[in-house]
Amino acid sequence: MSDIHIWDSHVHLFPPEIYENWDKYAKIDPVFGSLTARSKSPKGAQEAWVNGEEALLAADKAGVEGMCMQGWYWNDPGLMRLHNDYMAQLLKDHPDRFKAFASVNPKFGWEALSEIERCAAKGFCGIGELGPGGNGYDFNDPDFLAVLEMAQALDLPVCIHCGESVGVDYPGRDRTSLDPLPDIIRRYPDLKLILAHLGGGMPFFEMNRRFKGIFKNVRYDLAALPLLYDIRIVKAVTGLVGSDRVLFGSDFPLLLYPSACREADMTMFIEQIRSEAGLDEDEYRAVMGANFLDFVTPKEDL
Ligand SMILES: [Zn+2]
Repeated sequence: MSDIHIWDSHVHLFPPEIYENWDKYAKIDPVFGSLTARSKSPKGAQEAWVNGEEALLAADKAGVEGMCMQGWYWNDPGLMRLHNDYMAQLLKDHPDRFKAFASVNPKFGWEALSEIERCAAKGFCGIGELGPGGNGYDFNDPDFLAVLEMAQALDLPVCIHCGESVGVDYPGRDRTSLDPLPDIIRRYPDLKLILAHLGGGMPFFEMNRRFKGIFKNVRYDLAALPLLYDIRIVKAVTGLVGSDRVLFGSDFPLLLYPSACREADMTMFIEQIRSEAGLDEDEYRAVMGANFLDFVTPKEDL
């Protein structure tokens, strides 16, 4: 398995300025505050905080070659730009280890679109993680569609935080209806989408006979899986959509096994996938990094 390149497609590295002054920024952006507040239970799910250098140490320990920083769905344009500036610096310092998706809130209108252009010029390779629930829009919102239009034109994949329509409530569960997505995917045939957290169940719905073939540019990531689903879902979803359309992503440094480990860690989830997900070697190689690297490589470079 020496030729396996592990890329974590979904990590969140916030500027230290923000988490070191969490009270201040939680007030400026209450959605951020409520989603990252300290858990009431000592064993509860919890955001952990690490900077770029600490993330690299965790990656080295876990045999992770690189990671893609997902942004955040800020409700304050200044925080959106501050976060993107931090990720741009990490891209510059460690171009072989990091990739980045731009933090964007579509409701900022022209400011969101110009931020996408600014980030693309700095080497960001995608947009997201978008959080419709956290920013108060749905998938038919014209501002959201304007972001998709630009993403398609610039060949930038878009990662969207998806929640299950049937499930149990938890902070960050996004209740935005996925119902409009198949039509939107038809409307933007070259748009590349990553539906995070296994797409809130979309792999099941894409089996609809009327949707045949339309999801070819859609990928599903495994972010936060241990908090949400039984590990058998990995094999179930690769069985539904193919192992070429599932991406390893963790949501690091979110605590994925909060009663077993209270520190930011990348090893446990990878070990669980390796030993319990039931993927053969080719599937494992694809899911753990090859699919992601393929997906974010611009068409003209292939
Ligand atoms: Zn998410």
